[in-house]
Amino acid sequence: MYITAHAAAGAAIGQFMPSVLFAFIAGFVSHLILDMIPHGDEWIKDWKLFRTKMQRTTVAALIDLCGVIAMTIYWINHSDVSQLPYMLAGIAGAIAPDALWGLYELTKSPILKWYKIMHRTGHYLVFKTRLTVIQGFILQIPLVIALTWIIMNY
Ligand SMILES: [Zn+2]
Repeated sequence: MYITAHAAAGAAIGQFMPSVLFAFIAGFVSHLILDMIPHGDEWIKDWKLFRTKMQRTTVAALIDLCGVIAMTIYWINHSDVSQLPYMLAGIAGAIAPDALWGLYELTKSPILKWYKIMHRTGHYLVFKTRLTVIQGFILQIPLVIALTWIIMNY
């Protein structure tokens, strides 16, 4: 799932947590659960615009990161300031699983290899179906909108 969607879930869930530590953990867990739902971003690996897997992943992650930054600014401006630490901890927790995976791809560290396998396996644990790019957007855009509504109205 796109990092923007994960961040939205982390921010929304974080607001309901009693501490920033719980918000971070809840964000992390929400990422692993959301990844189990087919979400149609496998197309990135067939993206013809860039030659290597590393280039494709990096460009996609940078575009997605811009989405996270833009949405985080929006969420901060449209929610209660007292919720800010929980929201940010939730976002950090929700982004961490993909950041760890990115760290593995960059370093190929054996310490992170088990994690990479676990993260990958989680994607196909419940559903074997793969969505198209369009189906992925049809799922994730309303999800971000719904979570934004929760963030703004809690
Ligand atoms: Zn993930």
